[in-house]
Amino acid sequence: MDLLELTVAQAAAAIRSGELDRAEYLDAYRRAAADDPLNAFLTAEGDDPTNASDGGGELAGIPIAVKDIFCTEGIATTAGSRILEGYVPPYTSTAVRRLREAGALVHGKTNMDEFAMGSSNENSAYGAVLNPWDTSRVPGGSSGGSAAAVAGRLAPAAIGTDTGGSIRQPASLCGLVGLKPTYGAISRYGMIAFASSLDQCGPLTRDVTDAALLLRAMEGRDPCDSTSVGLEPGVEAPSREDLSGLSFGVPRELASEAEGIEPGVREVFERTLSRIEELGGEVSETELPHAPHGISAYYVLAPAEASANLARYDGVRFGMRAGDAEDLTAMYESTRAEGFGAEVKRRIMLGTYALSSGYYEAYYGRAQRVRTKIAEDFSRAFERFDFVVAPTSPSVAFELGSRTDDPLAMYMSDYCTVPMSLAGIPAISIPAGLARPDSSNGATGPELPVGFQIAGPAFSEAGLLDAAFALERAIGFEARPGGEGP
Ligand code: GLN
Repeated sequence: MDLLELTVAQAAAAIRSGELDRAEYLDAYRRAAADDPLNAFLTAEGDDPTNASDGGGELAGIPIAVKDIFCTEGIATTAGSRILEGYVPPYTSTAVRRLREAGALVHGKTNMDEFAMGSSNENSAYGAVLNPWDTSRVPGGSSGGSAAAVAGRLAPAAIGTDTGGSIRQPASLCGLVGLKPTYGAISRYGMIAFASSLDQCGPLTRDVTDAALLLRAMEGRDPCDSTSVGLEPGVEAPSREDLSGLSFGVPRELASEAEGIEPGVREVFERTLSRIEELGGEVSETELPHAPHGISAYYVLAPAEASANLARYDGVRFGMRAGDAEDLTAMYESTRAEGFGAEVKRRIMLGTYALSSGYYEAYYGRAQRVRTKIAEDFSRAFERFDFVVAPTSPSVAFELGSRTDDPLAMYMSDYCTVPMSLAGIPAISIPAGLARPDSSNGATGPELPVGFQIAGPAFSEAGLLDAAFALERAIGFEARPGGEGP
């Protein structure tokens, strides 16, 4: 048996039955991760298996790669930033603690865009991550290290965070399942804050069943995060075989009329809609009239919250401190000047400006109103439909460097994922097929994964995972990076 091809569910079952030796399994992944040809890991250090709980938890013996935005006591945590170099947290995030309680082990900390700001993982202070499907291309971001590690067989599963698309978009670009749960399903305690009203933890896995397993371990109310509520009823292993009786709305703003969706992505999307119908689901057009304004609202709100959250990095309390400063103010200034990268500085400036007195109403207040409108659009759609579906990313994985000079082009990568984040609702991306990069601009290359996104009402995770499971089976995505697949 090829240990690196097992899903989490398969490996956990084999470990429980004694068919698979947990030390051997762990060792196979330790060796794969130590190699790391993708720059996916910032820290290879993981949990000592002798300390791991043996209590027969659902994830017993499973190494899980953790985005370097989750605080891990005793293990360096940088959030992809120079400014947190040398920071070793004195406590552990709830998400990681709960994975460990289920028997999982931390399998290194993964590379990411600095403070989760980005869509390509090129904003990391520690270098870009490479996409295992084509190493001249980005894995997506900001959870790019987590996605590349799972797709590249360096980890069986990973966790990431999604503020505007950072789990779903890299999952789409790397051929994985990525789930952004309902805001509040999983505690944010110990997750380094980017935009607190949007940030949510979630799994990146090889299939829908594994996503359900990880969600089940991590969800729940946590007294350390007053915005956490958990999921009620809890999450079971998905088992649905068809989609009969379920209705799927296709918002024309995010699908049929959306600009910039590559022809190959559109084709896979259309094909997947037919599959839904073959499975007995009803598909029809719907509208989310305010969704096209999602990106504009998001790029006011997220930077505004970030500018406040990032004020704490001043060279005193965490990580690096610039030397040779004349006085305290100069020390603050040079630490922040040297410690933050260009994108983070851009967001701090945008956010501070949007919150400044005199402009607050014009920008922040207005963006909040757009956010409410988008949430209302979804509520209206869910009166008629069980789910809303859209492409996850307008394009397949793009070439390294191709969008770095144009922040607006980079921001558009999240056109189809940001509306769900603003509405706080759950959404999952599953691999739906392969497509060649847009050939209209002369680009050619290998076929690359395309994700299909399904969103549901708040706290509908159980039904969402069930529907995704049925669709996943019908799609039968078998392709592997660097190979033809079975
Ligand atoms: N790409 C978006 C941004 O740069 C979303 C990032 C995220 O979800 N963390 O803000």
